[in-house]
Amino acid sequence: MRDFDAGQLALPGIRQLQPYQAGKPIEELERELGLTNIVKLASNENPLGVSPMVQKALSEKVSSLARYPDANGFYLKSALADKYNVKVSQVTLGNGSNDVLELLARTYVSAQNEVIFSQHAFVVYPLVTKAIGATPVAVPAVDYGHDLDAMLTAINDRTRMIFIANPNNPTGTFIASDVLHAFLAKVPAHVLVVLDEAYYEYVAEAERAPSIQWIEKFPNLVVSRTFSKAYGLAGLRAGYAISHPAVADLMNRIRQPFNMNELALTAAMAALQDEDFLQRSVALNREGMAQLVAFCEHQGLNFIPSHGNFLTIEVGNNAEELYNKLLHKGVIVRPVTGYELPRHLRVSIGLESENQTFIDAMIAIANEK
Ligand SMILES: *Cc1c(COP(=O)(O)O)cnc(C)c1O
Repeated sequence: MRDFDAGQLALPGIRQLQPYQAGKPIEELERELGLTNIVKLASNENPLGVSPMVQKALSEKVSSLARYPDANGFYLKSALADKYNVKVSQVTLGNGSNDVLELLARTYVSAQNEVIFSQHAFVVYPLVTKAIGATPVAVPAVDYGHDLDAMLTAINDRTRMIFIANPNNPTGTFIASDVLHAFLAKVPAHVLVVLDEAYYEYVAEAERAPSIQWIEKFPNLVVSRTFSKAYGLAGLRAGYAISHPAVADLMNRIRQPFNMNELALTAAMAALQDEDFLQRSVALNREGMAQLVAFCEHQGLNFIPSHGNFLTIEVGNNAEELYNKLLHKGVIVRPVTGYELPRHLRVSIGLESENQTFIDAMIAIANEK
């Protein structure tokens, strides 16, 4: 054997990374425990599944998959530009919005830079920061949410990027539009603000920030959104960023030429046209959220009020044990210890019956004691 040390040779920033912890797949739990009828409320997926219009468009596309996709995603970019009243040159497509978050970091952040995000914020921000060898700056949260004033104070000459998740995952906290606008006005021009709006469609219309319109005034603002959540396409990987055209131009130079595959492009186009599916998804989420909130209130469980498609519930010191007990009852939720929330579990909003299965399992476990 050669004396080969894979770890020693790797970049220091990459050596210290922990692999991303995904929600447990249904098949894995089936295999491990021999259970059927498993309910997965662990990855904030759309419980309505895939829109029938999207399914039709996908099946029609399968026969032409021998061809490369359109490297520029012309139709999807045009559709998004129309929808948001921006130029096509402002749109960057990604293999999921995680891809555009990484592209942004790779385009702008060097090992000498600092990247600011909030405690309890989405794990991909520290991940992409550390992978580059840059310095992550996690600003302590206030009431589980972003402390924007403290984030402003954390800015220095080395700061190059701030990630804001609104609503945030895994807490569901939300920053009001006027507060966010005031924050953006104070961020200096050498810092890019990446506003991750993966759950935008779930936010009540009256509360949504006109964030994309703000780009004209704040060219250092980038807004990312996804087809993974309300549009029900998590398995395909389709996301995008809207930015100043110069930012998009640079991101497009480093992305892989076909970073959004043909099925993802096709599905995203069809999904944009199925407004009815989107509305049903949002309405179902509202009802399911009320169902879980009512359960928590009835049981006297604290929860973090959420603007997303999930609810993070304070279950106490035995969160890990409760997670495992729920698994044995065929319910997969998400532990959030890795987010410095060791006393909480995150539960995605499912169908009414799935939410009820979770509620029944929680009650059964409480009664076992
Ligand atoms: C789910 C999620 C995303 C979306 O990731 P995709 O790569 O588009 O699937 C982005 N940001 C946050 C905060 C999320 O929770």
